[in-house]
Amino acid sequence: MAVSMSFEPGLYVTATPIGNLKDITFRAIEILQQADLILCEDKRVTAKLCQAYDIKTQLTAYHDHNGEEMRPQILERLQNDQVIALVSDAGTPLISDPGYKLVRDVREAGITVYTIPGACAAIAGLTIAGAPTDQFLFAGFLPTKTMARKKMLTELKSVVASLVFYETGPRLADALLDIGDILGDREIAIARELTKLHEEVRTGMAPDLAAHYSLQPPRGEIVLVVHPPQARQWSEEELTGLMIDLLAENSVKDAASLAAELTSMSRKTLYNLALGLKRP
Ligand code: SAM
Repeated sequence: MAVSMSFEPGLYVTATPIGNLKDITFRAIEILQQADLILCEDKRVTAKLCQAYDIKTQLTAYHDHNGEEMRPQILERLQNDQVIALVSDAGTPLISDPGYKLVRDVREAGITVYTIPGACAAIAGLTIAGAPTDQFLFAGFLPTKTMARKKMLTELKSVVASLVFYETGPRLADALLDIGDILGDREIAIARELTKLHEEVRTGMAPDLAAHYSLQPPRGEIVLVVHPPQARQWSEEELTGLMIDLLAENSVKDAASLAAELTSMSRKTLYNLALGLKRP
């Protein structure tokens, strides 16, 4: 049972659902009901959420095109101890959505920025993709043009982590072809329409998925997750060769450390190998 509370003055960065209207926290509903003002991207979109939860607070548009002009007015209201909520059309504000400059300016003015966390498509997609989650890099939207897209993918190629992108249906097949070209053989998950009626996750390799989606361009919203690069498997001969080369110019200890960096294998194992090779 939610306990109603009043809020300290400040800016409240408030997450809203990414599809299913029930994916909203008690605290988000309370702040939206009690705030002096809700800043939103598109008033028509946020009005639907407000209608569902009996929220009668004034809505004001805040987006990339009016941010510059709006920020001084918002700061003035906050300096007068108002409670202001910032939402985006869906999910967590600032994540591929406007808000960063506002948060920066509000913090610089010495006013508190609070978080009301909740749904985020990137996290929702990642957590059901079946990809490793210990380290991941959220890279936002890939560029629309193939040259720029390939450049960005090349920059991300060496990152040893799952990669999470936002993508649109019409661009998905082309993006998958470029991912296959640049990132090579990696498993991919396409998480579509999360929390909505047609939610699905399709997994596979880039060329197969590209073929599938070029025949049936997908509708709706998409999170694309790429598994990390596979750690290279070193054969015994390769390891011995590497170690002999390193021992030619390094001590056993340094050779083991360098080999550990190069192979991601345990330093102790490599130290023992180096020691064995060094013995007469
Ligand atoms: N701030 C939002 C968040 O926290 O998820 C993301 C905003 S970004 C402008 C919109 C993109 O998020 C969509 O183009 C899509 O890639 C992804 N997205 C949003 N809702 C989604 C959903 N229900 N299923 C899959 N992807 C979604």
